[in-house]
Amino acid sequence: MKKANIHSIETSGFFDGPGIRTVIFFQGCPLRCIYCHNPDTWEFGKGEEYTVSQLMEKILKYKNYYKASGGGVTFSGGEPIMQGDFLIEILQKCKEEGINTAVDTSGILLSNTEKLEKIIELSDQIILDIKGSDRENYRKTTGRERYDLPEFIRILNKYNKKVWARYVLISGLNDQLDDIEKIKNILLSIDNLVKFEVLPFHQMGSYKYKELGLGYQLEDYPETTSQAAKEFQNLIN
Ligand code: SF4
Repeated sequence: MKKANIHSIETSGFFDGPGIRTVIFFQGCPLRCIYCHNPDTWEFGKGEEYTVSQLMEKILKYKNYYKASGGGVTFSGGEPIMQGDFLIEILQKCKEEGINTAVDTSGILLSNTEKLEKIIELSDQIILDIKGSDRENYRKTTGRERYDLPEFIRILNKYNKKVWARYVLISGLNDQLDDIEKIKNILLSIDNLVKFEVLPFHQMGSYKYKELGLGYQLEDYPETTSQAAKEFQNLIN
């Protein structure tokens, strides 16, 4: 029986996909984004174990709300794609139940491409967090050398998948003029882009780094104002 390690479950989510959603936060992430506000989701193997039917039971409780609001369920994290076999099975179950699904991901590849393609094929939409305007910025933001985004987008396009793209804006760090052009080009390479949002960086998760004894690089950065995020977004749109 497949099990997944789940960090937490949020009912009545309004931001991670259309309508009212249940958001499932998977435990474990291979990235170390400098702005991550959930560093407690990083470590693999922690959290609570769920079988597919246990998690479906939680999801199905709110089926009427999804129907009434055009919502559904969002698999987030951590990085949900890392628990790919489980994710495939639960996406299939949601499809059988007519529940809309979104996978919120950093757009990493799996060594098993077939598995990744299956996840993308089964999801109704992908929420793609663009971590950097290019390979170098991606490395600085995530700490990861491998840059999978162009290939990930190629797979999204192969399935003509609906994509919500996001970019976390940190004033003074990733808001330069050439970032605008590069982000624009990334967005233009996505065939079925339905939404793009610039999210302002905030310090809400910074206390968790202290609690976990982790280094935090953005202590001296001011929170990005929603006005600055809006202006950046307008320059891209
Ligand atoms: S991908 Fe998400 S969970 Fe992982 S480090 Fe980045 S922001 Fe945090």
